[in-house]
Amino acid sequence: MTQPPRGQPDDEKIVELRETSCCIVGGGPAGLMLATLLARKKVPVLLLEQHQNFNRDFRGDTVHPSTLELLDQLGWADEILKKPHGKVSSLSLRLGDRHIKIADFSTVPTRFPYIALIPQAEFLDFICRKGSQFPDFHVEMGANVLSLVEENATVRGVRFKGHDGALREVRAPLVVGADGRFSRVRQLGGFEVNKTSPPMDVLWFRLPRKPGDPQELPLFAVGPGHLLVVLSRTADFQLGYVIPKGTFASQKFEGLEKLRADIGRMQPILADRVSTLTDWKQIAVLSVESSRVTTWFRPGLLLIGDAAHVMSPVGGVGINYAVQDAVEAANLLAGPLAAGKVEPQHLAAVQSAREFPVKVIQFFQKMIQNRILTGVLTSKGAQPTLPLPLRILTKIPFLRRLPARVVAFGIRRVKIRN
Ligand SMILES: Cc1cc2nc3c(=O)[nH]c(=O)nc-3n(C[C@H](O)[C@H](O)[C@H](O)COP(=O)(O)OP(=O)(O)OC[C@H]3O[C@@H](n4cnc5c(N)ncnc54)[C@H](O)[C@@H]3O)c2cc1C
Repeated sequence: MTQPPRGQPDDEKIVELRETSCCIVGGGPAGLMLATLLARKKVPVLLLEQHQNFNRDFRGDTVHPSTLELLDQLGWADEILKKPHGKVSSLSLRLGDRHIKIADFSTVPTRFPYIALIPQAEFLDFICRKGSQFPDFHVEMGANVLSLVEENATVRGVRFKGHDGALREVRAPLVVGADGRFSRVRQLGGFEVNKTSPPMDVLWFRLPRKPGDPQELPLFAVGPGHLLVVLSRTADFQLGYVIPKGTFASQKFEGLEKLRADIGRMQPILADRVSTLTDWKQIAVLSVESSRVTTWFRPGLLLIGDAAHVMSPVGGVGINYAVQDAVEAANLLAGPLAAGKVEPQHLAAVQSAREFPVKVIQFFQKMIQNRILTGVLTSKGAQPTLPLPLRILTKIPFLRRLPARVVAFGIRRVKIRN
C-alpha cells in the first residue's frame, strides 16, 4: 500500500514521473562518485542536486592519496592533476620558532605521496564531466528533494521540486541519501543519529599569496588558546582558526584586530597581509560536529558520506571518506542493482564495509580533540608546549609513519572492483 509521502503535503500535482535504477540525492563527493561508478557499470542513475552548480562555499579542498589512487584506477588522476593545485607533503606544526613534522607523506608507499589541494567545485565538476561520458549517468541540477515515496515501509522513490518550482517524482528500487551533514533524507527516513560535540569550532577565511611566498607553509601553527590551520592553495592561503566551541560571539566582541594580531603571531609570514581581513563577512563559521547514524539503511534506502557520518575536521578526511563510501557502495550494489533486486542485506554489507573505518577514525579524532586540542585551546597567555603524545610520535620513526598512512588512506585501502 502506498503511504502518503513523508515531508510533503500530498495535494500538490506531480507534473512528471520518472523511473531509474538508483536515485541519488545530493551531488557532493559521495553522490557524484557513486553516480559515476554505477553508470560506468551500466546501472541507470539519476542524481538530484538542489543547487544549480557545484560552486559552493568552502568545504575543504583536500584530495588525499586514497582518492588520487581511485582516480588513477579510473585513468583520470593525471588529467585532474594537470590543473593548478596546491600540495601538502607533510603535516607539520609551527610552535613558537620550532617547526615539527608530525607526518611525512613521502613515507607512504603510493604514486601520490601528498594531499592535493583542488578546489572542491573543480573536483566535483571534473567527476560530473567524467560521469557524463556514460549513457546511464543522469544529473538534474536545481532539484530539491522534499519527500520520500514509501510503500509497505519500503522506500520506492522521492519527490522533488525542479528549478521551475514544479513537483516531480522519481521511482527507483534504491534511493541513496548523499545529501550531506544536514541530510533531509536522513531526517525523513527517521534514522537515529549519535552525536558528539567536539570542543571546537573553526573560522574559515582566505588571505592572498604574495610573490616570493614559500609554496607550502606548515599546516598547523599553535598559539595561546588557538590553533591555526593553513592550506597552501595555488591562488591564496585558506586559513582555519580553531576556537573553543561556542565562543564565536566573544571572538567577535574582541574584534578583528585581535584575530589579525593572533594570525600574525602564529604565522609571522602572514602578518603583512592580515589587513585584508576587514569584515566578519569574510569569515565563515564551521560548527564542528561528529556524528554517525546507528543503521545506515532501511528497505529501499541507503545513507552514505556526511549523511551517514559527519566527521570532525581533524585530519581533513570528510571528502575522502565520502568518496570511499561511494566506491564500496558501487562495488557492492552494482550487481544487485543491475539484476533489479536490492535487498536489505546488500545495504547492510555497505554499512559493514564502511562503519568500522568510520568508527576507528572518529575514535582517533576524539582522542586528538580531547588530549591535544583541548589543551591548546584552553592554554591562556603562555605558549603551549608540545603535548606528550605528539612528543612520543615525533621521536619514534616507526610511529611517525602511522599518522601519514592513516590520513592518506584511512583505516584500509579501498579499491574499485571492475
Ligand atoms: C567549512 C568546511 C570545511 C571543510 N573542510 C574539509 C577539508 O579540508 N577536508 C575534508 O576532507 N573535508 C572537509 N569538510 C567536510 C567535507 O566537506 C564533507 O565531509 C564532504 O563534502 C562530504 O561529502 P558528501 O558528498 O557526503 O556531502 P556534501 O559534500 O555535503 O554534499 C551534499 C550535497 O547534497 C545537496 N543536497 C542537500 N540537501 C538536498 C536536497 N534536499 N535535495 C537535493 N540535494 C540536496 C547539497 O547541496 C550538496 O551538494 C569541510 C566541511 C566544511 C563545512
